[in-house]
Amino acid sequence: MSNLNIGFQTCKHNHLKIEEEIQLALNNGLNYFDIFFDGFSPDDVSDSQIDKILELKKEGINYTIHSAIADYKEYPKFMDRIIDFSNKIGALTFTIHFDKLSYETIDKILSKLSTNTKLSIENTIPDKNYIYEKNYLEFIKEASKRFKNIYSTFDIGHCFINKYDITEYITKIIDFTQISTFHLHNNDGITDTHNCLNKGNIDVKKIMEFLKSKNLYSIFIIEHWQDNFLSLKYIIQISTD
Ligand SMILES: [Zn+2]
Repeated sequence: MSNLNIGFQTCKHNHLKIEEEIQLALNNGLNYFDIFFDGFSPDDVSDSQIDKILELKKEGINYTIHSAIADYKEYPKFMDRIIDFSNKIGALTFTIHFDKLSYETIDKILSKLSTNTKLSIENTIPDKNYIYEKNYLEFIKEASKRFKNIYSTFDIGHCFINKYDITEYITKIIDFTQISTFHLHNNDGITDTHNCLNKGNIDVKKIMEFLKSKNLYSIFIIEHWQDNFLSLKYIIQISTD
């Protein structure tokens, strides 16, 4: 296995239980796993499943959380449950999309989230926060002024569809904040298809070389399930060439 911190993510389409998904990642040498509340909530995870998740942590899996896709202008009631879940499993990072997020909600999340967990704000498509009419860079700049300990979850596929030069864009983000998590997938530049890393127009090798040269390796989440093993193989191969 490589020295990269690579993880898979939960997927609502694969009909596996969450602990089976994590076990599969562990069996294949991965040490990270992203729990994305997409199509299910913490209420759907039983106590015995949580025990299993914690057991798998002891075996070497580190967790990250991806909050549900929702409108976060106001702090929603369900958020307490996601934060409790995150605190219970000791997530390293907690990702939330920026497009419908208010600074008041960030403030509230920070007051409840474990201080060991990095609150990481993700770039989305289109590149616009509808509450403040700010783009991602403007939003994250303001957020890092207002709060300590704000991080970026940087999605290369979203950045590409938003028509930015990915490495230039990363350089701009790190002027304001650290990137705690990368979301990896590929596409044709038009549709957010979350393809395998070798299927699309994003030059993933160039990005990985750039990150290595800038010492920006953090956690890499392969954000698709179909062909995720191909992506895993590909990223290791291009990073060790
Ligand atoms: Zn993403």
